[in-house]
Amino acid sequence: MIEITLADRVFVLTGAGISAESGIPTFRGAGGFWKTWRAEDVATPQAWKRDPRVVWQFYSERRLQAERIAPNPAHYALATLEQKLGDRLFICTQNVDPLHEMGGARRVVHMHGELMKSRCERCAQPFHDEAGHDEVPRCRCGGHIRPHVVWFGELPFALDEIFEALEHCDVFVTIGSSGTVEPAASFPQWAGQKTSRGRARTYYIGDEEPANSVYFDQVFLGRAGELVPKVFPG
Ligand code: NAD
Repeated sequence: MIEITLADRVFVLTGAGISAESGIPTFRGAGGFWKTWRAEDVATPQAWKRDPRVVWQFYSERRLQAERIAPNPAHYALATLEQKLGDRLFICTQNVDPLHEMGGARRVVHMHGELMKSRCERCAQPFHDEAGHDEVPRCRCGGHIRPHVVWFGELPFALDEIFEALEHCDVFVTIGSSGTVEPAASFPQWAGQKTSRGRARTYYIGDEEPANSVYFDQVFLGRAGELVPKVFPG
C-alpha cells in the first residue's frame, strides 16, 4: 500500500502497461498493431507528409479496436482515488486511449493526445471525431484533418501544467511505463529531487523493472489490474 496523508499531493503517470489488461497492446509487447505497423511509417510527421492516407488507415484501425475495449480494475481504482483526493491528484497519461475516462476519471492530462480526437493541421480547429477515415478528411479552411496525437519527434501537450504538478507533488507514482520514452521517463527523477515541498516519495507499479528504476524508492512488480487497487484501496 502507498501511504497518502491528508496534505499530500499525488502525481500519477500511466503508460501503455495500464491498458494492456484491457486488450490494448503495449508498444514493446508481442502482437497487436505495433507488430503489423512500424512506428516510423505511421506515427511521425514525416510519415504524415509522405502518405496521410496510410496514417489514417493505422489510426482508423485503432479507433475501431477502441470500440471493443473496457477499463480494468486499475483504471477504476484511479477514478476512485480521484474522487477521494480531488485536485490533490494529478493523473497524467502517455496513453491516447480513453480508458481512464471510461473508468470514471474526470481530469486526465493526455500528454500524447487522444485517439478519439482530430484537429486541422492548418488552423488547429479541434474535432471530436471517433470515426475511421478511408480518405484524408478536410477542414472547412481547406487544411487536412490529422489525428490529435503526438507523434515521435513532436512536443508533448500540457508540459507547463505537468511540470507545475511535478514541482508540487509529495507522492509520485508511475504505472506500466517502460521508462524509455522522454520526457516522461525523467519525471520520477525530477519529482525525487525537486525543492519546493521537499522531495517526493517515488513508486513504480508494473510487471517488470523499468529502464529508469533507479529513480524509484520502491518498485511493486505485478500486473496493474491486480496491484493498483491494492496500493490504492478504495
Ligand atoms: P511501453 O510499451 O514502452 O512499456 C509498457 C510497460 O508496461 C512495460 O514496461 C511493461 O513491462 C509494462 N506492462 C505490460 N503489461 C503490464 C500490465 N498488465 N501491468 C503493468 N505493467 C505492464 O509503454 P510506454 O512507456 O507507455 O511508452 C510507449 C509509447 O507508446 C507511449 O508514448 C504511448 O503514448 C504509446 N502507446 C500508447 C498506447 C495506449 O494508448 N494504450 C499503447 C501503446 C503505445
